Amino acid sequence: MHPETLALHGGWRNDTATGAVAVPIYQTSSYQFASTEHAANLFALKELGNIYTRIMNPTNDALEKRVAALEGGVAALAVASGQAATAFSLLNLAQAGDNIVSSTDLYGGTWNLFANTFKQMGIETRFVDPADPEAFARATDERTRGYYAETLPNPKLQVFPIAEVAAIGRKLGVPLIMDNTSSPVICRPLDHGAAVVMHSTTKYIGGHGNSIGGVIVDGGNFDWEANAKRFPLLNTPDPSYHGAIWTEAARPLGPVAYILRMRVTLLRDLGAAMSPFNAFLFLQGIETLPLRMERHCANADQVAAFLKGRKEVARVIHPSQQDGEARRRAERHFKGGLGALMGVELAGGMEAGRRFIEALKLFYHVANIGDVRSLAIHPASTTHSQLSPEEQAATGVTPGYVRLSIGIEHISDILADLGQALEAAGGSMRKAAE
Ligand code: PLP
Repeated sequence: MHPETLALHGGWRNDTATGAVAVPIYQTSSYQFASTEHAANLFALKELGNIYTRIMNPTNDALEKRVAALEGGVAALAVASGQAATAFSLLNLAQAGDNIVSSTDLYGGTWNLFANTFKQMGIETRFVDPADPEAFARATDERTRGYYAETLPNPKLQVFPIAEVAAIGRKLGVPLIMDNTSSPVICRPLDHGAAVVMHSTTKYIGGHGNSIGGVIVDGGNFDWEANAKRFPLLNTPDPSYHGAIWTEAARPLGPVAYILRMRVTLLRDLGAAMSPFNAFLFLQGIETLPLRMERHCANADQVAAFLKGRKEVARVIHPSQQDGEARRRAERHFKGGLGALMGVELAGGMEAGRRFIEALKLFYHVANIGDVRSLAIHPASTTHSQLSPEEQAATGVTPGYVRLSIGIEHISDILADLGQALEAAGGSMRKAAE
């Protein structure tokens, strides 16, 4: 089925107990066992069923199935935040002494997790430039457990070479894990060879800026057993689960060893569970996700064209404005739109950036993306202010760079707000010149 249909029907028909069509919020911590034998079977994974909401819940289950369907995966796990989803996606494969290879173009929180917290845990991250896919191969050794990248990372907003790096990884036996937060529906990384996809559901999936959450989707397309030496966590007896070998334990359920282990060990032990109430809100969000993405992308294309024609703007950063290899990658991997995140480089630099943000009336000034409302932030004076000018430049942030997340308001109102804010920014430019 198509995304518009899966967003409404994927993973759920009606509640078996009541017939309810909308997914009920199962706000319960625990579940009554039918008998002692039933309880023992559930704990031993001989029978599948609900035990305790930290590791499974019927509302979360509907969300997991729906996101898995939308991404073309076999199963998913909902967790408390996008950060938890990223951490789990790699801790499920890597332990102290291992390494991962990651694109340098990352959300700052992910960078911190890899460069600091994972390092403290004994997991090394080898950062490589995504402009050179072969760099992933060069950084790989026998202790490499995964590749990690974002589909459309800001501020550079150049589509990651998913197919190229996934193919390199498959040759070497290394799975590619994609953060697809910025481009649900318009890009399906699993179709291009990625093995795992994660989302911060906080962004487009929820869409309404009201809840924090994350989800990891198992593509079911990576042969963990053929690469058994590289993945001991999935292929050797797990002492925390009466010696279960996850690739064997999962066999009756399908190719779900990766996500099964994540649920019954990492989520059990680290406890970053998603609240069923939040799962309900994300399900509500998903129902209109394909429609929203269409409008987000259409508005963004028009904003990019508008900004390009303004004298106050030195450069517009959006896939619609790119050419060469970057454009080819965008066209190869995206369908139905090129995303709604945008960079605007103001000719007047830092001062113009500040003035522009302060003059916006419709756009919210927040550290978020993927809301139905249009959002803006000036990274040089906020999210990237702790970095030196050289470090800022390396990440793609210049003093006059403003990041926009284009919402689904009427395009005329969006353009009117941007136009009046540019006039204000332009005023400050002239003042600076005087
Ligand atoms: N990945 C990307 C691309 C993000 O933009 C964010 C948050 O801004 C995250 C992951 C982390 O998600 P969360 O804030 O839900 O923990």
